Amino acid sequence: MPYCAQCLIEFVEGIGKCEDCGAPLLPGSPPEDPPVVDLSGQKDVKLVSVRIFTGGTAQMDADLARNILQSQGIPCLLQGESSAEILPVLDIPLFVREEDVSRAERILKDYLDTEAVASPEEVDPAEDS
Ligand SMILES: [Zn+2]
Repeated sequence: MPYCAQCLIEFVEGIGKCEDCGAPLLPGSPPEDPPVVDLSGQKDVKLVSVRIFTGGTAQMDADLARNILQSQGIPCLLQGESSAEILPVLDIPLFVREEDVSRAERILKDYLDTEAVASPEEVDPAEDS
């Protein structure tokens, strides 16, 4: 049934927009677990470092990875992100919940590693004589 993404209320088929806020309805069902990811407030969650970013672009890469995971509904935490201090952190571990580790690893591999391993050997060997 269509639903309002803002109110997360389902409506019967045939209704085009939310009766509460007027937003256009989306097809399907409202997500059961809205991807609200805030691990910093959860004390009893076991976090596992799924990947460690190093080097000059570590912060950028880590942010990207976090965004990717969050867009997939996996809560994650970057070391030091809750701290206001600006430190030249060289190694930035990205933590996810223990139960999400294998999924997170696969997603990160798909998103990050395939790009880096762009094969330069896909040149057409048309030099045949
Ligand atoms: Zn609404």
